[in-house]
Amino acid sequence: IKNIAVLTSGGDAPGMNACIRAVVRTGIYHGKNMFGAVQGYQGLINNNIIPMNARSVSNILHMGGTILKTARCLEFKEDAGMEIAFKNLQEKEIDGLVVIGGDGTFTGAKRFGEKFGINVIGVPGTIDNDLYGSDFTLGYDTAINTVIEAIDKIRDTADSHDRLFFVEVMGRDSGCIALRSAIASGAEAVLLPERETSLKELITKLKAGASTKKSSSIVIVSEGNKYGGAYDIAKAVKRKFTHYDTKVTILGHLQRGGSPSGFDRILGSRLGFAATNALIAGESMKMVGLKGNKIGLTSLSEALSGLGNYKLEDDLLEMTHVLSI
Ligand code: ATP
Repeated sequence: IKNIAVLTSGGDAPGMNACIRAVVRTGIYHGKNMFGAVQGYQGLINNNIIPMNARSVSNILHMGGTILKTARCLEFKEDAGMEIAFKNLQEKEIDGLVVIGGDGTFTGAKRFGEKFGINVIGVPGTIDNDLYGSDFTLGYDTAINTVIEAIDKIRDTADSHDRLFFVEVMGRDSGCIALRSAIASGAEAVLLPERETSLKELITKLKAGASTKKSSSIVIVSEGNKYGGAYDIAKAVKRKFTHYDTKVTILGHLQRGGSPSGFDRILGSRLGFAATNALIAGESMKMVGLKGNKIGLTSLSEALSGLGNYKLEDDLLEMTHVLSI
């Protein structure tokens, strides 16, 4: 490996900059020429591939978002788009690629690597924690902290007014953010896409809380759950349970931004360092991930075929039932 390019693709996630910094500096440390593709795969196609040095990544460790920008690039899904991307890389003699993103990004990387034999390593970057092969994905911890901070504030007003709040959080089909946020914010209940809680059960739980003089209740609604959005659920519950004044908050995109937590800065650094070292060691078509506090490699095929097998932590869900009485 002589020349390495790094890119961020799909949704942005806090910690991506820490990872870019680690990739660039690790490569430079080992005497490689480093490049950054701007706007993910779109940058490869547009030949927006810029040289990077150790100073290009100064003062970005603490920043949310991604200095390299990210994009959803439909052209890269077509063979013609991939060919242009490869030609642009060839021109610069770039023979190694680190892609930071989610499952779509890895699907693209796998196809690209198979088709052109370029060396590729993936880094799991998404707040949703919905990838197989890493206990934590980059940005997940920061998103949880953002949700907790918001719910702490909601709790103040909920408590002062005896209110029931439905707070909708992100995660698409993954309830990971919702579950961990529920524990850390002391939510009374959580609705997840992966596990069914009927509205009847939810109402029984809220009634039990009211009868033991809870002054407020917070229900976290994960966006992919089967009963719909927080407004729909609030409406349905209100019809049968009127003890509290009911309010809804949808946290939305603020969950994607912000300065990365200490955990994500360290994780981004570790994953970027490991991804570059793996490329230099001759690895390809793999993803780096955190497995029980060690960084390990998973083949892209296994990571993609294991999608949906990321574990919802049922032991934590059990615990919320006990701790929220
Ligand atoms: P997030 O989980 O945050 O959405 P993601 O990486 O899954 O991240 P996608 O938009 O699904 O986000 O994918 C990112 C990019 O990867 C796409 O815009 C496209 O350029 C590329 N990509 C996705 N699927 C394919 C595919 N089948 N073939 C080639 N490229 C793909």
